[in-house]
Amino acid sequence: MLLERTIVKAHPDYSSNDALTAQIVRLATRSLARAKVDWCSVSAVGNATQGQPNAAGNIAGGSNCKLRVMTYPTTLARRFGIPVFNYNDVSAGLPGRYVAKGGKVALIGIMVGTGLNAGYISADGTLFRTQKTAKAAKGRVIQVESFPEAGHLAIPGLPPVRCGCGSYDCAEVGISGSGFVRQAIYYLTDANSAAPGRNTTALYRMLRIRRGTPGLSRILWKMQRESAFVGEHVVKAAKKGDKFCRYILHGHTTPDGKVIHLGAVHHLAQFIRAVSNAYPVPTEVFFWGGIAANYERLVRDAVSLLVRSDGSKHGLGNRNYAKLFPGKPVVIKDDLIGLRGAIYLAATTKR
Ligand SMILES: [Zn+2]
Repeated sequence: MLLERTIVKAHPDYSSNDALTAQIVRLATRSLARAKVDWCSVSAVGNATQGQPNAAGNIAGGSNCKLRVMTYPTTLARRFGIPVFNYNDVSAGLPGRYVAKGGKVALIGIMVGTGLNAGYISADGTLFRTQKTAKAAKGRVIQVESFPEAGHLAIPGLPPVRCGCGSYDCAEVGISGSGFVRQAIYYLTDANSAAPGRNTTALYRMLRIRRGTPGLSRILWKMQRESAFVGEHVVKAAKKGDKFCRYILHGHTTPDGKVIHLGAVHHLAQFIRAVSNAYPVPTEVFFWGGIAANYERLVRDAVSLLVRSDGSKHGLGNRNYAKLFPGKPVVIKDDLIGLRGAIYLAATTKR
């Protein structure tokens, strides 16, 4: 039973751990009070978040938060004397879908949002992860996992744009909201760029900047850091037929068949291939995350590149994928999927 759903806009004040913790406690207390549930009857907290749980039980490396380390898990555990379980939002998404399907099915989940990641959960509900802790004691914060960062798999043919991790050739550059923004900045500010439509792109209007503004690159990077320029802008413009944004998402081939740019659809097909070959055969491959949910066509087109058994033009097609994707690709639009998974994991962890 979901007690309450609240969306709180990130505010500059949340650069303080105290403010963040106070806000979480306030919201949780309010939800419990409305549902007439006492804090004393809460036996554990499951927390799904961006970033990675660190050895101390807190959360490090969240790219959308000004805090280098978010310390609310340890504070909550100390204050309420109950175990707090931290999960990366992607690793919590898999059990979220697993629970929604009633269990007993093996799943591969691919999250296409601000970042890119993928994971596997077996039919008995075991999440594939590289590290997990064994036991939770009362009042202790438990770091439960670390997860393979599949978004940083190298795939061929990506634009020469650096990933947030510092490397080149990470799949995330080709297939994520942050990657779309990085590509857009690169193609808009590189004098040698041949990206079609870059002088007339709707992005300028959407971002309220003028083409040819001095220091454009600096301005765009600043907007990117402040989340004033996000992948959704690129997706929204592409949906309306903007040539430049469609170039990023769908690639570009000249009339005589020369591939100028592969595009996100093709990269996603490569990524699905890499991930689905890395894990045991699942019952379902599903997709979630803001970009997948807002632009299902990206997923549909990528899957159809794989399912085409005619050895499609870049050699991605293979009959086996028809078995993996028997119908329309499954795109989950439930943005509480990670929360559901975190609650399931916290409830089923032995302590
Ligand atoms: Zn990377």
